[in-house]
Amino acid sequence: MALITKAIKGTQDVLPSFSHENRFIEESMLDIASKYGYSEMRTPVFEHTELFQRGVGGTTDVVQKEMYTFEDKSGRSITLRPEGTAGAMRAFLEHGLFNEPLPQKVCYITSCYRYEKPQAGRLREFHQFGVECLGTPSPAADAEIIALADEIFSFLDIENLELQINSIGCPECRKDYHKALYEYFSGHKGELCETCLERLEKNPMRILDCKSPVCSEIAKNAPVVTDFLCDECRTHFESVKKYLDAMEIRYTVNPTIVRGLDYYTRTVFEFVSNEIGAQGTVCGGGRYDGLAEELGGQHVPSLGFAIGLERLLLLMHAQETDFPEQMKCNIFIASMGDDAYIAAAKAANDLRLSGIFAQFDVAGRSLKAQMKYAGKIGAEFTAVIGEDELKNGRINVKEMATGDTTEMSLENFAEEFSERIMNDTKSALKDLFSSDGEGLNINNLFDGLF
Ligand code: ATP
Ligand code: MG
Repeated sequence: MALITKAIKGTQDVLPSFSHENRFIEESMLDIASKYGYSEMRTPVFEHTELFQRGVGGTTDVVQKEMYTFEDKSGRSITLRPEGTAGAMRAFLEHGLFNEPLPQKVCYITSCYRYEKPQAGRLREFHQFGVECLGTPSPAADAEIIALADEIFSFLDIENLELQINSIGCPECRKDYHKALYEYFSGHKGELCETCLERLEKNPMRILDCKSPVCSEIAKNAPVVTDFLCDECRTHFESVKKYLDAMEIRYTVNPTIVRGLDYYTRTVFEFVSNEIGAQGTVCGGGRYDGLAEELGGQHVPSLGFAIGLERLLLLMHAQETDFPEQMKCNIFIASMGDDAYIAAAKAANDLRLSGIFAQFDVAGRSLKAQMKYAGKIGAEFTAVIGEDELKNGRINVKEMATGDTTEMSLENFAEEFSERIMNDTKSALKDLFSSDGEGLNINNLFDGLF
């Protein structure tokens, strides 16, 4: 019985008193991305298992250990998406988006599923904001996408995030690098973990991403990929850095970043914080020029990044970020008696249709309990409808912060109350402008606006 009132390990609820935080960061990200030409794409939460085996890569931790894979009732192997890129590329190929003007710029907010050991910043269901720029090999696109992530973090006022970049070359220059890694790690066979021994044979670069303390210590002295780049990859990387310098985006080159997924080529990058413990990578991304071909499509040089939303929120909480206010209640209309109750329902409805955040009692409470509730939800104004108000057609509206009351007509309540709110907003803005000494005539400004 206890099981059904407990969420599955590694999953997380977003409760109503926090959902405005998610909404704020998600809307900010989508808005900023649209300035760069990105449109939202939505793909299914599950795909054929093979898509991820091929797309993410058979030697990755994600495919080897972390996927939620099951057979559906017809015996097909299905996997809950562990990341967003493979699905986005699948949709791009399936719907022939390569016939549209390139690059196609798509973004998404999506849940992802990985069977990992749950801990701070590491969940089994988590969420990503991702962008994919499909169909361009140009280093300008690499710099642009990094600039987009950078703008998101500055807009959200995130401090002390370090942008680390690297180039992991193309399959050509990686051949020599793999050889060098193989030689180096072969000398440490006795110390490597079992998974890394397998990696050594299949894809030694994956060892660099191993989280085991012994392997990562050995990896520290391994040959670095930047020493093996071919001329084209080197020029590409130099060019990315030049664009970033021109855009005044600060970065450090970290030759040990290889990223956890197999499909990356050339530029890879991470935004890293040291304020949220071991899981400090808030954003990871890079170029994946070979992915489309890996999935059976044509050559579609592309790149993208994903921001882990839970990790970002951890960081924002650690930095005590101020989020814009929760949804508010302009007015709570309390009532006494059956007729008044119906009048309160009508008044609240009229107010809402005029754009006011209005509530009335939908729980059949006593007047005292209604007023207590209004206080708890932070209603800015309250009004009580009783027999007298119905008889006189007048209603007293009380401003909770000051205790001031204003009488309004019950019949034109929505109109009069909206006007009051508008006037309050006007004078608040007026104070704001005059305290800046701008001398702007706020009434004229409003008349112009509305
Ligand atoms: P890590 O090295 O932390 O395991 P990764 O390389 O597996 O990360 P990516 O596949 O690049 O991560 O995913 C992009 C982002 O998604 C990460 O930078 C992180 O912010 C977030 N992320 C990845 N896995 C998890 C998880 N299990 N729980 C919460 N967020 C995650
Ligand atoms: Mg991982």
